[in-house]
Amino acid sequence: MSVAFDEEFCEKVEEILKSSGVTILTSKSVERFEGDGKVERVILDDGEKLEVDCAVVCVGVRPEVELAKERELKVDEKLGIWVDEYQRTSHPDVFAAGDCCQKFSFFTKAPVNVRLASVATREARIASANLFEEKVKNEGVVSTFSTCVGGRTFAVSGLTKTLAEREGIEVVESDFKTVDRHPGSLSGASEVYLKLFFEKESKRLVGGEIVGGVSAGEMINLVSLMIEKKLTAKEIVRLQFATHPLLTPSPIAYPLVNAAEKLVR
Ligand SMILES: Cc1cc2nc3c(=O)[nH]c(=O)nc-3n(C[C@H](O)[C@H](O)[C@H](O)COP(=O)(O)OP(=O)(O)OC[C@H]3O[C@@H](n4cnc5c(N)ncnc54)[C@H](O)[C@@H]3O)c2cc1C
Repeated sequence: MSVAFDEEFCEKVEEILKSSGVTILTSKSVERFEGDGKVERVILDDGEKLEVDCAVVCVGVRPEVELAKERELKVDEKLGIWVDEYQRTSHPDVFAAGDCCQKFSFFTKAPVNVRLASVATREARIASANLFEEKVKNEGVVSTFSTCVGGRTFAVSGLTKTLAEREGIEVVESDFKTVDRHPGSLSGASEVYLKLFFEKESKRLVGGEIVGGVSAGEMINLVSLMIEKKLTAKEIVRLQFATHPLLTPSPIAYPLVNAAEKLVR
């Protein structure tokens, strides 16, 4: 989670997992697995032994570039098959899209390691539009990601505070907490907490993080759209949204608008 979210949101995930009885061990690595015909123990680097029924190993991803290498396309083992902004590889008749190819940041244009189905399908649409003539440019990955932990949605788009600091982009933040029905006592209501990040000088939206109910899954896609369209806090305040008691937060407490409004004020 810490690759995608700021610490504040990671801590919320940690709280949910701990309250469900999950033990979290950090800053430790696995030395080896032990067992007779199947895994029975995990031995950690500090000597600790964990008795287990099974082990799930999640150690990241690497692009599959063998076929491209065989055909002598330009390839970087870690970043993937080189593509230009039209998804063309180094061979004029070969396009690449998805996990196998390089991605670059929407903000800095530097390579990024964001491999998602939503990114892959977008790249495929861009590649197919460009098969016969250069028409659509890929402006880079905004990086919009959502997940669900213990029934709560965690979603992020663009730059978090941590990422902005790492890239040397000065941001100001604004947050808003509400309930995604009005009144909040309606059944199916979930608390939603949103934090937006704006570029300090231009007040353009560059990032957002949300923890909420199911509704946060689509709310982050609105954040992503606003980032890609480079909307400023003032423009977000003036956007038009539908609201309904059973479906959305109140029109006077719409998280995206109210967080932007707080910043404008
Ligand atoms: C557990 C898990 C959960 C995920 N959850 C999400 C999620 O919630 N949201 C999201 O956006 N993304 C998610 N992802 C990431 C998402 O699955 C990938 O980004 C997406 O599948 C990439 O699509 P792709 O078509 O580029 O590659 P793939 O889906 O990997 O397809 C590539 C295909 O090419 C085939 N292939 C490889 N080499 C050759 C060859 N030489 N000849 C012929 N065929 C070949 C492979 O067998 C494979 O079928 C998840 C990934 C994992 C592993």
